[in-house]
Formats: sequence, structure tokens, C-alpha cells
Amino acid sequence: MKKTLLASAVSAFVLLGCTEKNQSPEAGLSDAKPEIQEIESATAAEVNPLLTEWKTDFGVPPFNLIQDSHYEPAFEAAFEAHKAEIAEILADTAEPTFANTIEALERSGSSLTRVSNVFYAVNGAHSNDVIRDVAKRIAPKMSAHLSDITLNEALFKRVNAVYQQSKDLGLNAEQTRLLENTYKQFVRAGANLSETDKQRVREIDSRLSELSQQFGQNVLKETNEFIVIVDKLEDIEDLPQSLINAAADLAAKNDAEGKWAFNLARPSINPVLQYSSNRELRKKLFEGYAMRGNNGNAEDNKAIASEMAALRVERANIMGHDNHASFVLERNVAENPENVMGLLDKIWPAALQKAELEAADLQAALKADTGETDLQGWDWRYYTEKVRKAKYDLDENELRPYFEVNIVRDGVFDTANKLFGLTFTERNDLPKWHESQQVFEVKEANGDHIGIVYFDYFARDSKRGGAWMNHLRKQSNLDGYVHPIVTNNFNYPPASEGSPSLLSLSEAETFFHEFGHALHGLLSDVTYESLSGTSTPRDFVEFPSQVFENWMTKPEVLKGFAKHYETGEPIPDALIEKINKASQFNQGFATVEYLGAALLDMSWHTLESTDKPDALALEEAAMARIGMIDEIIPRYRSTYFNHIFAGGYSSGYYSYIWSEIMDADAFAAFEETSLFDQETAQKYREHILSKGGTKPGMDLYIDFRGRKPEIKPLLVKRGLE
Ligand SMILES: [Zn+2]
Repeated sequence: MKKTLLASAVSAFVLLGCTEKNQSPEAGLSDAKPEIQEIESATAAEVNPLLTEWKTDFGVPPFNLIQDSHYEPAFEAAFEAHKAEIAEILADTAEPTFANTIEALERSGSSLTRVSNVFYAVNGAHSNDVIRDVAKRIAPKMSAHLSDITLNEALFKRVNAVYQQSKDLGLNAEQTRLLENTYKQFVRAGANLSETDKQRVREIDSRLSELSQQFGQNVLKETNEFIVIVDKLEDIEDLPQSLINAAADLAAKNDAEGKWAFNLARPSINPVLQYSSNRELRKKLFEGYAMRGNNGNAEDNKAIASEMAALRVERANIMGHDNHASFVLERNVAENPENVMGLLDKIWPAALQKAELEAADLQAALKADTGETDLQGWDWRYYTEKVRKAKYDLDENELRPYFEVNIVRDGVFDTANKLFGLTFTERNDLPKWHESQQVFEVKEANGDHIGIVYFDYFARDSKRGGAWMNHLRKQSNLDGYVHPIVTNNFNYPPASEGSPSLLSLSEAETFFHEFGHALHGLLSDVTYESLSGTSTPRDFVEFPSQVFENWMTKPEVLKGFAKHYETGEPIPDALIEKINKASQFNQGFATVEYLGAALLDMSWHTLESTDKPDALALEEAAMARIGMIDEIIPRYRSTYFNHIFAGGYSSGYYSYIWSEIMDADAFAAFEETSLFDQETAQKYREHILSKGGTKPGMDLYIDFRGRKPEIKPLLVKRGLE
């Protein structure tokens, strides 16, 4: 029912998370959630650690005790507990008040939130067939459970009664926001609908939830199962030795001892696309990647995407909207599809023009190299590296030795320390879900406990692709201070024999990005869990993460942390200069690839017919409208666009650039003063990081910056103006 719950349960795998401060560390969960022990029967509590009080340090989940078989019964018990809490609210004979209805709802479902947080964190980062099956079975139950609450008429009557007198209740800003959110959540779930419409919305939600699970699983399967075997070393010998070794290991694992294998995991496909002169190999992997979910087999996602789109239109219509995007955007900073399309279309021509110039450079490089004149998608990254080297002499492999994963982590910590005074103490005595994880306690400059952050660095089969943050526990202060526990997850190359995990420049930037989300969760200082940390609209939530990336490539920051993993030498000035010169390089491609996906998302979700669209025709028309060039495909094609079909980002993929406008403009506030200006950092922490979703995003921004964000710093930063 709570926003936290919906966020963690329904779109659990999306990128964010959160929690935070004061009070003794151990107090956290037990203080705030005394009901957990009471809810469960003695027998269940004895056997299932998910249903008992966690007597771990800081109340972190006892991963060492949790087994796959515990999740499903824990979900079942948590559903029941939540139902009982709702029944108690309804049984109250007193007139509905903010305390006995809105705050009571906020308190309810804590057991379900707790189980969901752990389950979806593990399902994303370290899953297996058993866990995936549980996810599949729980998804429709979760959806039905949440619908039962938001479509409960008696409950809505109470919420509405409080809402109607909101002006006279003397609520503070955060309470007002909680009341509005709660009310809107009911209305948006269909509380004002007829019984027939309610029933239909319930069916649609449940079906969408199933389809979305299936979509994501198909993408994962298609990603994991695709493999290319190379017979001769001479076909790959221009690749870095570490990758050749990894390819030999992968081949051995796939019954091809003595050969080399490549797959679609980023540490395998990316270096091939960037560094292999073997055009055929690049083509095979590129096409394997681009065709995921579009192979006419059991994992084909075209029909799933079409059905989801049609169902979303139907639901939007029932809710009084012309299309799904209008329904979704109503509660975002952007407000409506017209504002989004207007923004994307404003950036598109400059981006396309830049990409066309880049394509001409790459075509020339291809011709000089092979005599060919048909630059293709699988050539782009390879010749980009060549042109980058020729123009900027920046070889990604030259940089990697300065970005060993622990060294980057220390750079991240140091930046957070200089900005906010935070300190980090490793706590590897705490339970983890994978032995390679690192765990840190985060403290204020004065030593006060803030929270816990988990890092899970390395790519493996059990982890989904990409990088993301989530929360194991959000910060709140309703019944005592609850400190945050957050996680950052990556797909970095694992250390292999003789070589530690060395990151590329963009992988290192990803660390700063995800830690920006972590800070949003860690430095949250609010009353209500459902408004805590990253519980903000989609088009605001990437703002704190993207802001934090800005520090990494500043010369004084790089100089401070980027030290050669063998010699300890700081990164040379010449390399820093190259990095900064190269920062606008290939931005035409990056922007076009991104905007292509953002516009594709909008095409799917501004449909106004409830007929199932033809997935490929829709994509083709969307790309034709904007004049997408053949050499570039959208960052995600429809059949593997997890963000919009298996995550929570439908009509929301635009939010990265929306957030980036805010991020570029916000970072300019530091550039106007100084990189670690304490007054600006303090204002940023107070008005943005600590506030979560307690006010509309634009209001928070104006509190920080004194005005609305301007678009110019973004265009300048990307070299588009
Ligand atoms: Zn992010």
C-alpha cells in the first residue's frame, strides 16, 4: 500500500534505494518495527529468519541464515499480517483522522516491505531458478494484494474523509505530501471507479505483472544463452590478454576446451565491439545482442510487449487518460507527454547532427582500414576507439590500471568525505548474500552512525545486467529513528588470475553514479518511510546520482584517487587532460542512442488504441519519424527494453536526460563557487539529499538553486551547443 512497498515490490529491480541516522545503530529495526515479532506465529518465527527479529548488528538482514525456501512462506505470512493491519484500521470506530488512517496506513505492511526488500535485492543480484520461480509466483499475488488494498472502498472512504478536510488539519509540509500521495494512490488505482471498472483494472494489473516478469526472464535467458565460439587464437589476438583468458575460461565452461567463447555479458561483448578487428565476430555479437527477444522462439518478447502496450492503453482510458504516458506523467516533474516530447525533440536535431559528423569520421576510418564503405552498427565502437586514439590518443586500456575497483571506491568515499564529511568503516563481519561483497558503515564527521552500504561489484550469471542501487531498509523517523541500509550493484569484470578488477572510465563513472543514489538513501532525513530517500518521481530520482558523477573527472579529484594499481603512481596530468578533452567525444552517438530509446518508449506509451500494435512496425515508425541513422540503434530495442517492459520506467526513460538538465545546472553551482564549497554542499544536502520525496521535485530544486533549472549547461556539457 505504501509507496515504499509498491516501489520495492512491483518495480523492485529498478535502479534505486535508500535509508539513515542518529540513535544507537542496533536500535534501527527493532525500535521502529516492534510488531514484527507479534505478527508471526511462534512456529513460523522459529524456522523462518525472514519472519523473526534480526538480532544482527545494525539490524542488517541475516543473509547467512536466509535460504531460498524461506521467501515464499515469508511472503505469504507478510500478506496476512498486512491484511490484519488493514482490518484493524477499518475496525476503528473513531472518526477517520490523519493519525488513525494515514499514519496507520504508513505503518502497515512493514513485514511485507522487509521481506520484499531482501527478496528483490537478492533476485536482482544473486538469483537462481528457485528464486526466479518464486518471483514468478509472487508477482501476481503481490499485485492482487496491493489492488485489494487500494480498491478497498471502506478504506478509501476513510482516506477521502481525511483528504477532504486536509486544509483544516494543521499538517506540516511532509504530512501534507503524505496525505496527497496516499489519496492519489487510491485514486490512481481506481478508487473512484465503478465496480466493473475496478474489477477490470485488477485483472489488467495482474496480467501486466505476469507479462512483465516473463519479459524480463526472457531477456535474461536470451542474454545468458547466446554464445559465440572462436576456434583460432589468431582471430582474436588483438584483444587484451585478460579478455582472451576469460574467453578461454568461458569456452571451457561450455564444453569447448581449448577454444575461446564470447557472450552478451558486458565484460565479454563490450571489449570485442571496442577492440576486435574481427568484423565477423563483432557482427555476430552485435546482432545477438540486438536480436534478443526477437528470435521467434519461446523467449520472443514481441507479443508480450504488444499485449502490455494495449493493456496499458485500456487501463489509462479507464482512468480518464488518453494514453499510458499521460497517466504516468501526471505525477512526475514533467507533468505530461507534450512536455516530454517537446524536450526530447528540442535536443534531438543537435544530437543527430553531431552523430552524423561522427559517423563520417568513423566511415573514413573504416575505409582507410579495410576499403569498405558500409559503416555498420558493429563498427561504431571499434572505429570510435580508433578515432579516439587518433584524435585524443586516449586508449581505454591505458586508463584501466588507474581504476582498480577498490581504488575507485576510495575515490568515491573521499569525494563524499570532502563534500559532506562522511567517513566509511569496512564491516566484513556482517552477513552478505555473496562472499565477494564489501560492507561499510557510514558515519557523520562527528562519528554519529548514518547507515550501512553494501557493494556487489562483479558480473556473474546469477546477476542481472547493468548497475543499480536498492535499499534493504529505508530511513524513517515515525516511531524512532530507523537508519538506512543500501546496496550498490555492478557488473564489473571479476578479478582473474594475476589481474585485479580494472574498470574502464565509464565503469568508474558508474560507481560514482550509483553511489549518488546511495547518498540519496543514506542522507535521507524524513519522518515517513514512503517519502524517504529515492522515493521521488522518476524524473527526479536520477538527478542526485548524475550530479555525483561530475566530480570524478575533475582534475583535482582524479589526481587524488586514481593511482596505478601496481606502482601507486597518480594518474599522469597528460592522461587527465586527454580524458577531459575526450569527454565530449562521441556525445552525438551517446545522445542519439539514448534519445532513440527515450522516444521509442514514448511511442509505445502515447498509443491511443487498445488494439495490440505490431512491435517491429511501431519501432520502425518511431525511428523513421526522427530520422534515426542506420548505423545507430536505440540504446534498447523494444524486445529487450527491460526498463519499460520489465521495470518501472514505462514512459519514464526520458527521465535520465530530464534529470541531467538538473544535474548539469546544479553542478554549475559548485563550478561557480568551488568544487567542494561547503556552503553549496550543505545546501545541496539539506534541500535535495535529505528531503527524499517530501516536496514536489521542482520545489526542492528551487529551494536549492533559487530558480528553475536551465537547459544550457547540459547542451554545453555534451558539446551539442
Ligand atoms: Zn541511476
